[in-house]
Amino acid sequence: AAMRKSRIKRTKTVCTYCGVGCSFEIWTKDRHILKVEPNTDAPANGISTCVKGKFGWDFVNDRERLRKPLIRRGDSFYEAEWDEALDLVASRMREIKTNHGPDAIGYISSSKCTNEENYLMQKLARAVMGTNNIDNCSRYCQTPATEGLKRTFGLGGDTGGIEDIANADLVIVIGANPAESHPVLSTRVRRAHKRGTLKLLVADLRKHDLAERADLFIHPRPGTDLIWLSAVTKYIIDQGWQDNAFLQTRANGFVAYAESLAHFTLEDAVEKTGLSRETLKSVATMIHEAKRVCILWAMGVTQHMGGSDTSTAICNLLTVTGNVGRKGTGAYPLRGHNNVQGAGDFGAAPGLLPGYQPVSDAKVRERFEKVWGTPLPQSAGLDNHQMVEKIHEGKLKAMYIFGEDMALVDANANHVQAAFAKLDFFVVQDVFFSKTAEFADVVLPASPSLEKEGTFTNTERRIQRLYEVFPPLADSQPDWKIIMQLANRLGANWTYRHPEEIMREAASLIPLYAGVTYERLEGFKSLQWPVQEDGMDTPVLYLERFAQPDGKAQLYPVEWTKPLELDAEYDLHLNNGRMLEHFHEGNMTYRVPGIEQKVPVTYVEVSKELAEARGVKTGALVLLTSPYGKVKVRAVVTDRVTGNELYLPMNTPNDEEAVNYLTSSYHDAITHTPAYKEISVKLEVLEEF
Ligand code: SF4
Repeated sequence: AAMRKSRIKRTKTVCTYCGVGCSFEIWTKDRHILKVEPNTDAPANGISTCVKGKFGWDFVNDRERLRKPLIRRGDSFYEAEWDEALDLVASRMREIKTNHGPDAIGYISSSKCTNEENYLMQKLARAVMGTNNIDNCSRYCQTPATEGLKRTFGLGGDTGGIEDIANADLVIVIGANPAESHPVLSTRVRRAHKRGTLKLLVADLRKHDLAERADLFIHPRPGTDLIWLSAVTKYIIDQGWQDNAFLQTRANGFVAYAESLAHFTLEDAVEKTGLSRETLKSVATMIHEAKRVCILWAMGVTQHMGGSDTSTAICNLLTVTGNVGRKGTGAYPLRGHNNVQGAGDFGAAPGLLPGYQPVSDAKVRERFEKVWGTPLPQSAGLDNHQMVEKIHEGKLKAMYIFGEDMALVDANANHVQAAFAKLDFFVVQDVFFSKTAEFADVVLPASPSLEKEGTFTNTERRIQRLYEVFPPLADSQPDWKIIMQLANRLGANWTYRHPEEIMREAASLIPLYAGVTYERLEGFKSLQWPVQEDGMDTPVLYLERFAQPDGKAQLYPVEWTKPLELDAEYDLHLNNGRMLEHFHEGNMTYRVPGIEQKVPVTYVEVSKELAEARGVKTGALVLLTSPYGKVKVRAVVTDRVTGNELYLPMNTPNDEEAVNYLTSSYHDAITHTPAYKEISVKLEVLEEF
């Protein structure tokens, strides 16, 4: 018995799913996961976890895990050894660089992978291959929020911590469904709401769990958030409810901003948003009466053609009312993946070196060049949206993607897949053989989070360590090791023996991470950036200064971008998002039997009114068609949605049901984030249930 017991191992890890960043211990015996044990020391979650963090781990032992490198031969692949695969990748990349220049290759890094891995991927692109063509999937979700924050407050991160949200007396949730997408964070808000210490205001198209509990639930027309936010801000100023002391001492640009709001009248807002005058006034009054307001938002705001501007309007409203730079207040874009924040922090972006330092700044480049020992490309590279277009134009010849099923998660999937089919050379590095891998020339088997060490940075800028729970399965390897071996075949001489050495180098170059060391992150210890050299971290940003040149927040006038409209043929609006049980494209959670049995298929939600009008019953198979593609899916009739608004979760076990066969290439003008939330479709019933 003693022998048996000694083989049981407990290892601290950080959840691989959402941006809340729950941490806990995993009990294992060999490769068997015995249980997930919460720990009161876990900074983001305490003893809470959601269904995914608690039960969603069996995918790591799935029989479909990639076990060996695969190399294309005609229409199929053969299993190869690492040397053959990496030699091939290196020689083809070198050849394409020689023939077409470094900018003919694009790199996609992963917000599912560690900070250290993101750092190495952008270093490979920039320092080894000589291109700034590097991006990650935060462009699909949170880049517009980052833009709004940077314009106004200066730094692209949530202004406070998860715990601090419960200190607000009004929490506003816009275009986000935390109960399903960020469950543990939502539990904290719900508990405080139940205790009666805070009020809850929800703006959404869908009556989700938090909307059901809200003190006020508002349902503006799709794509009109900027209008009601601006009209409410104007009304607050017209009433003289703005925070004058704050505006005088801590913000710039109030007069010009107030003038820019002139046309955002209540009448105009009523007409465009469909909300009543009384509702708009109630929103303004709730904000006025609260002493501390937090605003939480997510993809319902950012994934529009005006996503950056709406995010900015949120920051403007917080500034006008003095609800930032104090405890219990602030701006909280809720990051989706576990390491969306970290992928951006570590420079997986075409215009920014690690730490959001512009590649165009000669002084910044000089610091990196000194440490990396090589001259760096000077102008911003292509983002992931531009990469797809450049492949279609014949200018981008090769891509290297890791930890991202871009063929399904980028918008307008048919258009993206047609691009991948045109590539001269394509490398995909992942845990499973994804849809994207179908287009690859070489597929490299990577390890999931439980098989590697490193750090993740969650939505509240909290940096946490993960430890190896068990060694990589079969021939798979942690991404950082694969990237390093490839870099060395391409002429680098990297000698990192452990991710700690990568972090040491990165921290020396990223002021926000200056004081980050693995020692300071031991076990359940964590740090929230900026971290000073002495290890002092920053739970709440801007308590004294904003990160603008003169230390003051900047009010930033914005205008509304009209969303795509429905027409006679495509007469229904298709909203989309997550469901609690599954994560994103479902490649992990649909491989967890317990979860898969609970929610085995995806479905489209249809309102009662529409169901009646079109004869749709729960269980019917319906065909959704947009100008860009088709999806067949079962219908569920529900009062969570209303009128001609449908809702399709993005999580599906079946590639053909992916919502991105319906989405378009329209995007936010500033960040190129796809307008995933602006889809019009038609619906036909194919088969009664
Ligand atoms: Fe994981 Fe997010 Fe659930 Fe926490 S809330 S257990 S981080 S999926």
